[in-house]
Amino acid sequence: MSFTTKQDTIVLGAGMVGVGCALHLQALGKSVALLDRRAPGLETSYGNAGIIQREAIAPYALPRDLGFLMSGVTNQRVDVRYHAADAARMLGPLWDYHRNSAPGPYKRISREYETLIARSLETHTQLMNDAGASHLVAGRGYLMLYRTERELLDFFKVADERAEAGVNHIKLTGADVAREEPALVGSFAGAVRWTDPLAIRSPGDLVQAYARLFEQRGGAVHLGDAGTLRQTDAGGWQVETANGFTLEAKQVVVALGPWTTQLTARFGYSAPVIPKRGYHMHYANLPGRPLNSTIIDAEFGYVIAPMKDGLRLTTGAELANADAPRTPSQIDAAEKIARQNFPLGERVDAEPWMGTRPCMPDMKPVFGAVPGVPGLWCAFGHGHQGFTLGPVTGELLAAMMTGGTPRVDVRPFSPERFG
Ligand SMILES: Cc1cc2nc3c(=O)[nH]c(=O)nc-3n(C[C@H](O)[C@H](O)[C@H](O)COP(=O)(O)OP(=O)(O)OC[C@H]3O[C@@H](n4cnc5c(N)ncnc54)[C@H](O)[C@@H]3O)c2cc1C
Repeated sequence: MSFTTKQDTIVLGAGMVGVGCALHLQALGKSVALLDRRAPGLETSYGNAGIIQREAIAPYALPRDLGFLMSGVTNQRVDVRYHAADAARMLGPLWDYHRNSAPGPYKRISREYETLIARSLETHTQLMNDAGASHLVAGRGYLMLYRTERELLDFFKVADERAEAGVNHIKLTGADVAREEPALVGSFAGAVRWTDPLAIRSPGDLVQAYARLFEQRGGAVHLGDAGTLRQTDAGGWQVETANGFTLEAKQVVVALGPWTTQLTARFGYSAPVIPKRGYHMHYANLPGRPLNSTIIDAEFGYVIAPMKDGLRLTTGAELANADAPRTPSQIDAAEKIARQNFPLGERVDAEPWMGTRPCMPDMKPVFGAVPGVPGLWCAFGHGHQGFTLGPVTGELLAAMMTGGTPRVDVRPFSPERFG
């Protein structure tokens, strides 16, 4: 015999985005059930670089210079690699990504993107305080480290532009870097220290702390396959839990990260997600040689972040379907370079972790009502900054779903721009 439980809303997917949606719907008085095939925060929201990126007021554009494109042909770059057959299937969306990265469209997109990023810190800080999770903040700010003078000076200009938008930084010479991070070996041109972002020592733990807060406030977290979602004859939605319950609600939010459109396509809505996979590996700290902050080795596109489990190296992008076989050669390539400069001890994990950034061709997340399907909502496509943007997305979507007025103009993020 199967039991049916009724609530106002079901949220599918317990990554940072789904948990952010569940908490904010709950805060507006809705009864909410959260369902995932695993415990909260174990996919992409678990393995990222853990930076709440208040500085990222412009999304990650596709480099448009010929040198970058030509150097990608051999598929040996450290920052970007691809599975040829998967990348070939993405040519249409990649072409749109290329067009949207041109100065004109990129400026408009960045203005829209900034409205979300500007609210990312306050929405996280509120939840962290409520969840008693502030101890997960490893530190404030991180370094964009440059090896060559020319690249450094170009980035100083970017930093100055962002300063005009209220994003704070400090410019560091090579000698400053050596003073701040004495464990680094070798000489660097310098760095920009972004001073607003928060570095989190275990991103998965933060999602889990938020999910616990949701439960403490009366929310229910279930294991189950979102693929069991179906419409009822009465116009509602049902989904099965792993332990045989049926969850029923008038509204459902699909927040399955890179897997979102697999489900929404069944109800007639698809969108061109560009999956950018990334890997991580932890390394033991070397005695007496601590790394004081998270560092992006800008010219090679990898990150080294001091975390709970050791120094976490995260890689750049691998264009390949989320469920395609793993090819972690980027970890090996990045590790080889990192070992020359960073205090990396032995590998800690048996295998590299892998996750998928769900990126959209216009670099903006997608959230709102799924067109033409009453009661079906979605929140996905947060690309390089989903860990940062989960809570603010939840706040805005919850306002839309309850007939409130979202604090920012949500039209640029509407699902209607695809499908
Ligand atoms: C290497 C790397 C570094 C990154 N660094 C940063 C960073 O420093 N800062 C930042 O802001 N962002 C960063 N990101 C991006 C960020 O991690 C993602 O944008 C974000 O985690 C996406 O969150 P999400 O909730 O949409 O997806 P996910 O966290 O992937 O959650 C989706 C959930 O859906 C569930 N699910 C899928 N299918 C089903 C199903 N059929 N049934 C039930 N459940 C299902 C999964 O189990 C999962 O829990 C990084 C990403 C990578 C890969």
